Amino acid sequence: MTASFDARALATLPSRGELAQHDAAVWDLRRRRDAAAARVPDWEALRERAAALKAFSLDHLEELLVLFEERARAAGAHVHWATDATSLCRIVSELLAARGARRVVKSKSMLTEECGLNRHLEARGIEVVDTDLGERIVQLAGERPSHLIVPAIHKTRREIGALFHRTLGTPKGEDDPERLTRFARADLRRRFLAADAGITGANFAVAESGSIVLVTNEGNADLGTSLPPLHVACLGIEKVVPALADLPVFLRLLARSATGQPISAYTSVLTGPRRGGELHLVLVDAGRGALLADPAHRSALACIRCGACLNTCPVYRRAGGHAYGTVIPGPIGSVLGPAFANGEAGELPHASTLCGSCSAVCPVKIDLHGQLLAWRGERRAARAKGARRPSPRERALVACAAFVLSRPALLAPARAAARLAWPLLARRGPKSPAAAWLSERELPPLPRESFRAQWRRRRGRA
Ligand code: SF4
Repeated sequence: MTASFDARALATLPSRGELAQHDAAVWDLRRRRDAAAARVPDWEALRERAAALKAFSLDHLEELLVLFEERARAAGAHVHWATDATSLCRIVSELLAARGARRVVKSKSMLTEECGLNRHLEARGIEVVDTDLGERIVQLAGERPSHLIVPAIHKTRREIGALFHRTLGTPKGEDDPERLTRFARADLRRRFLAADAGITGANFAVAESGSIVLVTNEGNADLGTSLPPLHVACLGIEKVVPALADLPVFLRLLARSATGQPISAYTSVLTGPRRGGELHLVLVDAGRGALLADPAHRSALACIRCGACLNTCPVYRRAGGHAYGTVIPGPIGSVLGPAFANGEAGELPHASTLCGSCSAVCPVKIDLHGQLLAWRGERRAARAKGARRPSPRERALVACAAFVLSRPALLAPARAAARLAWPLLARRGPKSPAAAWLSERELPPLPRESFRAQWRRRRGRA
């Protein structure tokens, strides 16, 4: 990862117009989530239940994975274990090579993004086509997804129109979303029919039945798993849940938290291969085992990738997903980044206001802002590449503040000094002592009376 969070944010959402559009589009998802949650009377009980189920699954992960493997094999699937990104890529490329597969259709899978599977396969001459519309857009643009649920949310329709004109041959100037979708769908249909293999992720893996569960709104995963003869599903080991009866809890929360829909358009439970086909399940560790052994951060593994914490985060909404520099952006990305991104995401826990909105909307009740705070205090995050280190001036300021705030007798003179210095601080321009802060903010005018003075006066009146 190069450049800082700020530099990446400025480079990816450059104009104020795009920033406002991004902010509004993401906030709209948050609004829909709120409306959908309000229509479910037992919403909070549902969140509690989901959190408890995930905690149970993580506590019993080893036995659930053994059971999942046994049942999946009994249902006719092949099960592979990948310790890291390299072994995932090797397993998948060997499976494809052994069957002479050259054309692959892929459904959205953040794990394969995380492991660089597309790059690995393309370097071996295998054509990989992402089939989720948003993923296809970012693939054609040579970019990364910027959101968990809406990968191309950072792009305007005009940009997508120009991209499709360049790459798919749509008419110049065409930017009608419906017509562009029709073009993309016709192109994808051809690729589905010609594919030798389908690669998917999985939203859940069910231990008792050895099934995997795929949730989409476009039906692309269903075509990718039922048309080609070979299906390879790559899933993180944390996806396993005990029983089929647990699924409704998560499915009720997932779609509502993601887009405000009562349920996603397509939910498929796949047990074993399709008739005449082959199913390979690749269970991937890639840092998850180590995170599981870390009591301070293991609950992040409960994430069901709904994107709600992104939609509510004031930093994500204004910075955009590419600012994070990791595959998973937003608050959950800032929590998983220092654990997964090979120690290169040390600055991400600082990309937060710690307002707690992310924890308040998380359907599985991950204490996201608490974890962000915990990461800030951890030596390994502070030492990691990309970690923001306080300047000597910042350290001196914090030491001064600690000195004054821990001595009540100094508060009144410090407040009087701050009043005198306020106009100087609020002065804009490159010579201002707070130039960097003021380039994006305004200092509010000071109230005529301090809080303590008001308190004394009102108590005096009472
Ligand atoms: S951390 Fe919670 S809110 Fe964020 S994506 Fe995961 S499940 Fe959704």
